[in-house]
Amino acid sequence: METGKIGAGKHLTRIITKAYMDLHERAANGAFVVWIAINVPAEIFLGFENVVYGVPESHAAMNAAKGVGVTQCVKAEQLGYSMDLCSYARIDIGCVSDHGKDSPSFGLPKPDLIVSNNNNCSLLTKWFDVHHRQMGVPHFLIDVPFCYQPQKEKDREYIVRQFKDLIRVIEEMSGQKFHMDRFCQAVDYSIQGVALWKKFLEFADHKPSGITAFDSFVHMAPFLILRGVPAFEEHYRLLVEETEQRIADCVFPVPEEKYRLFWDNIAPWHQLRKMSSRLAELNANIVGATYTSCIGTKEGSFDLFPFDGTDPMHFLARTQNAYICPHGLELRKQAMAGVVRKLKIDGIIFACNRSCKPYSITQMDQQKHFFNQEGIPTVMIEVDHADARKYNEENSFLRIEALLEAIDAKRAA
Ligand code: SF4
Repeated sequence: METGKIGAGKHLTRIITKAYMDLHERAANGAFVVWIAINVPAEIFLGFENVVYGVPESHAAMNAAKGVGVTQCVKAEQLGYSMDLCSYARIDIGCVSDHGKDSPSFGLPKPDLIVSNNNNCSLLTKWFDVHHRQMGVPHFLIDVPFCYQPQKEKDREYIVRQFKDLIRVIEEMSGQKFHMDRFCQAVDYSIQGVALWKKFLEFADHKPSGITAFDSFVHMAPFLILRGVPAFEEHYRLLVEETEQRIADCVFPVPEEKYRLFWDNIAPWHQLRKMSSRLAELNANIVGATYTSCIGTKEGSFDLFPFDGTDPMHFLARTQNAYICPHGLELRKQAMAGVVRKLKIDGIIFACNRSCKPYSITQMDQQKHFFNQEGIPTVMIEVDHADARKYNEENSFLRIEALLEAIDAKRAA
């Protein structure tokens, strides 16, 4: 796709809009449609000529960011689903219930196959089972072993075998053939794009930081729905070049940066603009987040995990544990400590997420560790990544301001 001279923000809107339009159009023209969990390797579907995929979690995040998260949640609650369920699930179930009526993308086209994995949480597998029952569509579950320790070879082989099973199932259901060369090409685009993503995050090393975590939240969308295609790599190249130029021109998101903060948990999609501008007024910048740092890594580290050029399917299996939720406490701590030191973080915001229990479950222990062992002031606030009813701005900022005071007190001591 021609990127021309437009900014990365506009480019993002353009490619995301196009991705949803293409998805609907190709589905209407007979493509085999798969719904996937975010960390199911999208590159597998690109190994087929006419298989397209939609990502309900990402679609739910977009609904929340566009201000219709609560509207969709309420529809699911009216059907009897508990408010305690993950808001992504409620948004998605609510959205499906009236065929995408309030969705910015008119929902997702009806799937032929649903593919989940259980390494982030078991709730997601039950949520996808709801669709499986209601739509009468098969649900393929990739079982990924939880990792209290680094992934073992036998686990990797087990995951690869399931990828191969998935390919066989799609071949049988769609009547299409899987092409290894197409798949390898897709993995190559993904690898190039992810390397550029890591480069983009490194602009937070600069003082003042060249980026905010809010930039990274917004620009992670292609990672979720556009992996494996040229536009993915092009977008991150544009983003890196643009950010590099802004730093060279001394244009920084928080020019008088006094506090460098770190965020632990999923992005508060309904608060991105409000939270970032209110923090900027306090000369505070959330310069990084576990949520976006984990992309392109493996458990226990937020450094890029490079592809050794041998077997792309093994590589994708090896990075199935990149995300935070499948990590035991020690691996989480290890990865976070590395990036917190690298970015010279002054304070950490642990966002206890009412929806995502797997992400939030270890936060209390993490908080103690970073305060007692690393001497870093921390705070815990309550959020919900997509249900704005479960977030109180004033309470949260009261605590965040207390965190900034704790940082001042530490500096003065
Ligand atoms: S509970 Fe967390 S990991 Fe599970 S679907 Fe919701 S956001 Fe994802």
